[in-house]
Amino acid sequence: MELKKMEIPASTSTSPVKHKKSTKLDSFSENPTSNATPLLLYLTNAVFFTAVYFLLVSWRDKIRHSKPLHVVSSSEMAALLALAISLFYLLGFFAHPLQEQENEEEEEEEEEKLKKKVPDVKSDPIIILSEEDEEIVKGVVEGRVPSYSLESKLGDCKRAAAIRREALERITGKSLDGLPLENFDYESILGQCCEMPVGYVQIPVGIAGPLLLDGEEYSVPMATTEGCLVASTNRGCKAIYASGGATSVLLRDGMTRAPVVRFSTAKRAAQLKLYLEDPLSFETIAGAFNKSSRFARLQSIKCAIAGKNLYMRFTCSTGDAMGMNMVSKGVQNVLDFLLTDFPDMDVIGISGNFCSDKKPAAVNWIEGRGKSVVCEAIIKEEIVKKVLKTEVASLVELNMLKNLTGSAMAGALGGFNAHAANIVSAVYIATGQDPAQNIESSHCITMMEAVNDGKDLHISVTMPSIEVGTVGGGTQLASQAACLNLLGVKGASKVEPGANSRRLAAIVAGAVLAGELSLMSAIAAGQLVNSHMKFNRSNKA
Ligand code: ADP
Repeated sequence: MELKKMEIPASTSTSPVKHKKSTKLDSFSENPTSNATPLLLYLTNAVFFTAVYFLLVSWRDKIRHSKPLHVVSSSEMAALLALAISLFYLLGFFAHPLQEQENEEEEEEEEEKLKKKVPDVKSDPIIILSEEDEEIVKGVVEGRVPSYSLESKLGDCKRAAAIRREALERITGKSLDGLPLENFDYESILGQCCEMPVGYVQIPVGIAGPLLLDGEEYSVPMATTEGCLVASTNRGCKAIYASGGATSVLLRDGMTRAPVVRFSTAKRAAQLKLYLEDPLSFETIAGAFNKSSRFARLQSIKCAIAGKNLYMRFTCSTGDAMGMNMVSKGVQNVLDFLLTDFPDMDVIGISGNFCSDKKPAAVNWIEGRGKSVVCEAIIKEEIVKKVLKTEVASLVELNMLKNLTGSAMAGALGGFNAHAANIVSAVYIATGQDPAQNIESSHCITMMEAVNDGKDLHISVTMPSIEVGTVGGGTQLASQAACLNLLGVKGASKVEPGANSRRLAAIVAGAVLAGELSLMSAIAAGQLVNSHMKFNRSNKA
C-alpha cells in the first residue's frame, strides 16, 4: 500500500490552528453588515446626522425657554431611537475591518515565528500512514519488526525511512520536526552510505575562489556551519590569484592497510618479515594482491614487529577510488596466499592499526597515506599589505613561533599548521569524502619564508596523507557529485585512472594554502577576534 501524502504549509503542521490570511475583501463579506449597499450606508449616515441635528436644536430651544430636559416629547424619543440604531450600525461597520486588520497582523507575526522555528519542514509533506504502514510502525515500536529490516521487507527505501522515523518518534517521544525526510534519494544510499536512515541533515555549501592552481581556476565548494571560514579561504584565494597562482606537486599516491598476524615465536614472525620485504618475493605477492581489482596495484610492503606479532603495511595505488575497500580486498588475497607457506600464521585482524586509518599516527605523517602533496605560492609584498592587511615579516615570525615552535611545544603530530582541518573537513563533506579521514588528511606543515630580498612571501603546505576519491562511497550521491562536477573531477577519469582523485587532492592542498594564508594574516594583524565577531555572531541572534 502507498503512503498517502498531504501537502500542507509548515504552520499547520506544527499547530492545530488553521491560519487563513484574510483580505479586506474577505472582511467585507464576513461582516454582519457586509451586505450593505452604499445606498444603505448613506441613508444610515443621513438618519444619524438628522437625529443629532434635531436633538441639538430641540434641546437648545428647551434650554433657552428654561423647560425641563428630562421631559422628552415623542418626536425626541423617535430621534433618540433613530440615533441609537444608526450609531450601532455605523460602529459595527467601521470597527470590524479594524479588528480584521489587527488579527491579520497577529497571524502574520505568528506565521513568521513558526517559520523561524521550523525552517526545514516548510516544504515537507506530513505523512499520513496507510493502515498497513500503521501496523508496521506498531510492529517496530513493539519490537516485533526489526527497524533494520524495513528496506528489504518493503523494497521501498523512502517508505522504510518514513516508517522508521514515525516509529522512532513514538518510541522516544521526541519530535523530528526540522529534520527533512523529503527530497532525498534513499535508494542511492542503500548498502553504500548509511543504514537505517530517518532523514538527512542539511549543511550549507559556500564557494571559495577562484583558486588559481597549476594554471587552472577552481571554485572550491565548502560545506560548513562555521562562520568566517569560507570568507577567509576566499580571501586567501584572492591573494594567491593576485600573486599569479599556486603550484602543486604530488609526491606519492598509495592507500595502505596493515593486518596483524601472530606466530608462536618472534623468530617465525621475523621469517615472514624477511620474506615480504625481499625484492625477489614482490612479484609473487603483487600477483596475489592485484587480483582484487583492475585498479589496485601493489606498490610496497613495510613491516614492523612487536614480539611475535607482525604488522604488514601494504601500500597500493587505487585509481580514482579513495581505496580502503580495494586495498582490504588485496590484503585478504595475500593473507590467503601466505597461509600456504606459513600455515602457523594466526591472522588476528585485517587491520592492525599500523595502517593507520582515522587515528593520529606518526606512520602516516612520516610515510604518507593516500596522496602526499606539497602546494606553494609566492605572495607579493603589495598583496600581503593590500589584501591580507599585514606584513611579510610579521607572517614569517608568527609562522615560526606558532605553527612550528608552538606546535612543537604542544607535542603536535602533523599539526604544524593554523587550521588545515577546517578546510579539509569542509571540502570533504561537500565532495562526499569520508569526514573521519580528516584526522590524517589534515596533517600539514605550513612553511613561510621571506624571498626576493625579503620583500615577498613564500608559503607552502606539505600534506603527506590526503585521502580522497572521486568514485565510490559518498561521491556518487547527487549533492556531493554536483560539487565534484564543479571542480571538474566527478567520477572516474577518462584520461588516466587516478587523475581525478589526484587533482582533487591538489585542490584540497591549494584550498588549505589559501586558508593558512588568510587566517595567519588575520592573527598577525590582530583581526581574528573582530572578524569572527562579524561573521560568527549573527546580529539576528
Ligand atoms: P573504496 O575502495 O574507496 O572504498 P569502492 O570500492 O567503493 O571504493 O569503489 C571503487 C569501485 O569503483 C571499484 O569497484 C572499482 O572497480 C570502481 N571503479 C571504476 N572506475 C574506477 C577508477 N577510475 N578508479 C578506481 N575505481 C574505479
